[in-house]
Amino acid sequence: MAERLDVLRRYVTTHGLRMTRQREVIAEVLLSTPGHLGIDELYAAVKARDGAIGYATLYRTVKLLQEAGLAESHDFGTGGSRFEASHDDHHDHLVCTRCRKIVEFHDEAVERLQEEIAARFGYRLTDHRMELYGLCGGCA
Ligand SMILES: [Zn+2]
Ligand SMILES: [Zn+2]
Repeated sequence: MAERLDVLRRYVTTHGLRMTRQREVIAEVLLSTPGHLGIDELYAAVKARDGAIGYATLYRTVKLLQEAGLAESHDFGTGGSRFEASHDDHHDHLVCTRCRKIVEFHDEAVERLQEEIAARFGYRLTDHRMELYGLCGGCA
């Protein structure tokens, strides 16, 4: 956590901004909460730590975290963006369209196939996102 806060601190200062206590609280909450949080869930969690933090500050800081490579946003079509701390390991998502449960997975065969498809069209793959939609075991 300290290391990632340093990354944010560096990013913020090299962009002529100040690292405030509020930004630090937001970063701590987002980077330490597992799963994929909607902005309202994130707001509630942040508010529980510091009631003075406003929506605008939250929004700006989440954007900074993404720009600094510490967080990612996904739009799973479940109503607004969901945010998660960047993992060291790449993963893809399986989304239940009914209860919105999200499962993370990593499959070497799938990764390899994507490289092959990109190469087939003359692309060198640098990144990808895969989201599979369906009904989970509880909803099917
Ligand atoms: Zn479900
Ligand atoms: Zn994820």
